[in-house]
Amino acid sequence: MEATRHPDTLAARLQTLPKVELHNHLEGGAMYPDLALRLAARNGMTLPFQDAASAADYYRFTSLDQFIDILRTTVATLNTAEDYADAVERQGIEARRQNIRYHELFVTYGLVSRRGVPWEAVVEGLVEGRRRNADRHGVDTAFIIDLDRTLPADEALRHVQLALGARERAGIVGLGLDCQEAGFPAGRLRHCFAAAAEAGLPLTAHAGEDGGAASVRDALDCGVTRIDHGVQAVEDPSLLAELAERQVLLTVCPLSNVALRVFPSLAEHSLPQLLAAGIPVCLNSDDPPMFASDLLTECVAVDAQFGLGEARLVALLRNAVVHSFQAPDAKARLLADFDAAAARLGDEHGDDHG
Ligand SMILES: [Zn+2]
Repeated sequence: MEATRHPDTLAARLQTLPKVELHNHLEGGAMYPDLALRLAARNGMTLPFQDAASAADYYRFTSLDQFIDILRTTVATLNTAEDYADAVERQGIEARRQNIRYHELFVTYGLVSRRGVPWEAVVEGLVEGRRRNADRHGVDTAFIIDLDRTLPADEALRHVQLALGARERAGIVGLGLDCQEAGFPAGRLRHCFAAAAEAGLPLTAHAGEDGGAASVRDALDCGVTRIDHGVQAVEDPSLLAELAERQVLLTVCPLSNVALRVFPSLAEHSLPQLLAAGIPVCLNSDDPPMFASDLLTECVAVDAQFGLGEARLVALLRNAVVHSFQAPDAKARLLADFDAAAARLGDEHGDDHG
């Protein structure tokens, strides 16, 4: 295994790669204190924090349930097309800062539909935010419509139909599934996955986060080709073998898992076992402002913990490019750029060590 570099150096080197991130949530991922406070003021609301320091106190979780409560409070600031456009653009700015060229953002309409936010306002905001990211920041933004697992079955199907209706216009590239796994198995919404698959929309699902290996199997049975998290798959060796055999990508978010107590510490995270099983994994920051993270921070943290080395991290970053739901032509171009940048890193690496 390659020697671990000084973290700052590692981050600076990984910065040079044109990257892809596949597991960020539009809503929670935009709740940087400054933007959340600006949206709250615009919507005549008061948040339980007043600045970055009090937000950091507020963004301290002990469970996924508590996190979802806090998320629903902050996400109440999202109401209009302009709010949504600002949220999308905020993530475009963060992407450009890290040299992320393409990202897929989960949009959970169920978080706001119960408050009566019209779907058309959401779509308008996605369209505008995506345009800004392309024009102002050089970032290609796509969306995955994430079903709130706790929605009534007919309401969830309606969200799939809304997504399919706005697919081309809003850059919607997939269907996903989110929120508490306990009591809400993916199979409950099998008809939603079937409808999306019939329309040719790729499928993914959050599973194996607070749910176990059975929850991952349940999602696979719904036809998904990627799993978001999936870190509890290690409970079941036969599941690990199946994920490796079928090359199902796991979009793993290590620092989110620690913040939400999925694992008591990073040292106890299942990432090494997932990698040892031969499963394709990529690293992600989930809701970066709420977990004080970003993609490069995740890379540096797992390297420091597990000594993965730069070549392994480059391979994980490459997995995100390969397994994205990006259109084939654009993906091929980005992959060529990534491989060229990775080769330059490799050459420099050779020089470093004579
Ligand atoms: Zn997530």
